[in-house]
Amino acid sequence: MQISWAARTDRGLRRSQNEDTYCAKPDLGLFVVADGMGGYAGGEVASRLAVEQIQQAIETTAGLRRDDSWPVPFDNRSGIDGNRLRVGFTRANTRIAQEIKASEKLRGMGTTVVAILVSGCKVTLAHIGDSRAYLYRGTALRRLTKDHSWVEEQIRAGTLTEAEARRHPWRNMVTRALSGSDELPIDPTELEFEAGDRLLLCSDGLTAVLEDSEIQRVVAAPVDLQGVCDELVRQANAAGGPDNVTTVVIDVAVK
Ligand code: CA
Repeated sequence: MQISWAARTDRGLRRSQNEDTYCAKPDLGLFVVADGMGGYAGGEVASRLAVEQIQQAIETTAGLRRDDSWPVPFDNRSGIDGNRLRVGFTRANTRIAQEIKASEKLRGMGTTVVAILVSGCKVTLAHIGDSRAYLYRGTALRRLTKDHSWVEEQIRAGTLTEAEARRHPWRNMVTRALSGSDELPIDPTELEFEAGDRLLLCSDGLTAVLEDSEIQRVVAAPVDLQGVCDELVRQANAAGGPDNVTTVVIDVAVK
């Protein structure tokens, strides 16, 4: 099995800093996008800590079996890789709590995270907040994540449409994040890669300005992976570039 990937992160046109962080570690099968929030340097610190901690957790849990001793109690509702991601999210959350305790200025910082762990043809996915994963299969782009956000809750309740949500003043309000709080519901999911599949991880700087149909047109285009990432960022900036934007695109050649 061969993983190929490309990524691009961009400050956008209106923000002074880029508070998004990503990592791509094909040797670990790990790909992460984190979108930080919080004043001072908080957003940048939170997203960077989260990515570092998740990567370390994936390294240190490699080879662990169900019956081994785990850094956090094994949750039987998920498989091994789901639990490895849970260890990563938990460690990231704990580190963020420690940093907030150590520095008053970082109070209120947090980060969204979307992470996948590829093992053979199996992809395990975990997320918190409104960074998203999409799967392009056949001719259709499908969202693999449901945003943990206030507007998403309203859409599901039928009180807002997608178009209204996009313009709503509370559109950036996430209902879950890695912010050092005690409550950390993580629900990893699994899917099997099929030949021709393409995965996209992205921060809300992309999805706040592009419709899924517009993203699909770019993801489906017959250009190389870097060309896909660059074009997504270009279109987000052409639409005003109101936020940092990060895209990671992954293809797996299935034998
Ligand atoms: Ca953002």
